[in-house]
Amino acid sequence: MRFTPISFTCSSCGAPLRFSPATGKLACAFCGSSTEIVPTDSLIEEFDLHTALKTLEHYAPKEISKEVTCQKCGSIFTLTPYSVGTRCPYCDTPAITDFVNPITPEAILPFEITQKQAKTIFAQWIDSLWFAPTALKKLLDTDKKLTGYYLPYWTYDAATTTSYQGQRGDIYYVTVRQRRIINGREQLVEVQEPRIRWTPAQGRVGRYFDDVTIEAGETLSRKILGALGGWDTSRSQPFDPRYLSGFESEEYSIGLDNGFEMAQSKMHAIIRGDIHRDIGGDRQQIDHMQTRYANATFKNNLFPVWATHFQFKGKNYYYAINGQSGIITGERPYSYAKIVLLIGSILALLLVIGYYGEYFDEGFASSFDRYYQG
Ligand SMILES: [Zn+2]
Ligand SMILES: [Zn+2]
Repeated sequence: MRFTPISFTCSSCGAPLRFSPATGKLACAFCGSSTEIVPTDSLIEEFDLHTALKTLEHYAPKEISKEVTCQKCGSIFTLTPYSVGTRCPYCDTPAITDFVNPITPEAILPFEITQKQAKTIFAQWIDSLWFAPTALKKLLDTDKKLTGYYLPYWTYDAATTTSYQGQRGDIYYVTVRQRRIINGREQLVEVQEPRIRWTPAQGRVGRYFDDVTIEAGETLSRKILGALGGWDTSRSQPFDPRYLSGFESEEYSIGLDNGFEMAQSKMHAIIRGDIHRDIGGDRQQIDHMQTRYANATFKNNLFPVWATHFQFKGKNYYYAINGQSGIITGERPYSYAKIVLLIGSILALLLVIGYYGEYFDEGFASSFDRYYQG
């Protein structure tokens, strides 16, 4: 499918503008002028989930390859499926296309960590790693850069009520007699032993969930994104394509219904904790629970992530930095040469300690003798 990308140009010189996380404005790299992003009056809305799920087919993600013509240099290139924003591979001009999925982002968390800050965080993190290969430490010296991505996320709200049946366990102690050998003679002694008394428990707990966050894309693994920490959605802005300028951006490839299933299992874990507290006692067991979700709503969001990957001995290792909080996470290779070197030096050190250790032992023993003799 053919798409005409939009790009934002400088009113003073006509060069392309990019969003600057340092100033929160659009910046012109050519003449240095900056343009304020005036927020729209529109409020960030949550949408009724029940209604949306009824027309699910209409909301399913669409895997479409977009062919775009760069508005600056005229080159034609193809975006990867679900991509909505990138830079021209020939002239680096930002290119942002329309969304093809029926649910478009309602809110966006603009980047707050600049690429320079992200590089520093990444360099410090690598420095702190033990046994990292030297090639990894040099990764950021090469022209391989950290790429900024706006990644799609679902957030869900719901008022839940859960009725449950289970067991409450209370610990009590009983006195039992045991045979013990004391001073070479067998004796009967009384000891306290714990027992658990189980009694049936049932009840109902309620909890309101606000912005349960689910990754809606597949560019980075769930494991990596899950380790990036939380998102402060109170700083979300109404979606505006100008924030995307100069960054990679994507729309959802995980459907609204699958996202809600994942959100439910996140909520479930928290509700189980609520039930345990409601049951009370020393031990708790849940035999049955049923949750009702009232006023469930959702919205589609874009959250900022810096990411890069590193190839080492035929394997890819991925790294990501939360573009709002700066939290970093990643997979890491080990340098076996460095490990062997360290084991070697530990062994050498042990030999040295062993040799002098004997000497110290002797020295200590003789002074000990003298102390008692003297
Ligand atoms: Zn300019
Ligand atoms: Zn171009």
